[in-house]
Amino acid sequence: AKQTGHNHFQFYVASIDKEIRERKQMEKDLAQALANHEFHLVYQPQINLETRRVIGAEALLRWEHPEHGMIPPDLFIPVAEANGSIVEIGQWVLDQACWQAARWASEGTHLRIAVNLSAVQLRQESIVDDILNTLKRHNIPAGRLELEVTETSFMTNLTDAVAKLHRLHRAGISIAVDDFGTGYSSLTYLKQMPVQHLKIDKQFIRDLLINEEDTRIANTIIDLGKSLNLTVVAEGVETAEQEYYLSQRGCALAQGYFFSKPLLPRDFANFVQTFHAR
Ligand code: C2E
Ligand code: CA
Ligand code: CA
Ligand code: CA
Repeated sequence: AKQTGHNHFQFYVASIDKEIRERKQMEKDLAQALANHEFHLVYQPQINLETRRVIGAEALLRWEHPEHGMIPPDLFIPVAEANGSIVEIGQWVLDQACWQAARWASEGTHLRIAVNLSAVQLRQESIVDDILNTLKRHNIPAGRLELEVTETSFMTNLTDAVAKLHRLHRAGISIAVDDFGTGYSSLTYLKQMPVQHLKIDKQFIRDLLINEEDTRIANTIIDLGKSLNLTVVAEGVETAEQEYYLSQRGCALAQGYFFSKPLLPRDFANFVQTFHAR
């Protein structure tokens, strides 16, 4: 029905239609992206603020689309989670990150690798075995792997998530709560979960020392970590002032553009050398 006077309505329908078509197209493209080798990982250094050593790296997924170029993970991960393809993609990420960790280890650089684990992956029956088998295949000690999960991962089936995370933790893997403070934070979860790290979300770090509320939230998370004996990691650290404040305040670890953007593997070793030399 293309009548004048209904332009607004037509525009609305047209744009929803376009959105659905684009999403369907992205799902199709995602289904082929693994086979077409369109994914790669970049690694962002994690710094111990006290010793100023690089202690690990977070693996972050990149999708180089053949036509559209780099698609940010915030755009395609939700689609991959909705249609379930994150399970296969996430397994590839884990495999690739372990391969890289083994490679760095063979060159004498022993790092802890943090991998983001989607709530959809955690719901998979075989996820614990899949992760442990991947470590074994690459001969990576479990202590070298950290899994970053968000609070929403605990929501759907708390008992199931707790049981799985306990198995992973007993095997030696460490668990971090990602984006802490942005979800349905509950101290009950924290008590039940075998969690060792809290990651302060970058939204609270961005205006640290500028916005009083954000500063208070960051302080509260640092104090909470101290009282529960959890290591606190600040993400999104971009300035010397933020770094100084966080280290004075007793935040153990940090990552962010102030230290380094996420790097290609070949640039990572160089970064570590230069950083430790300065
Ligand atoms: P995240 O896990 O919270 O990762 C932190 C994001 O902040 C990354 O964005 C990182 O590049 C960015 N970042 C790091 N330092 C700074 C900084 O100083 N300033 C600012 N403004 N940003 C900084 P990225 O790589 O675009 O990833 C976005 C999100 O996509 C991640 O958020 C994570 O939720 C998801 N993601 C990325 N890779 C994976 C993956 O392999 N699996 C899953 N399930 N999710 C992933
Ligand atoms: Ca993360
Ligand atoms: Ca975050
Ligand atoms: Ca996130």
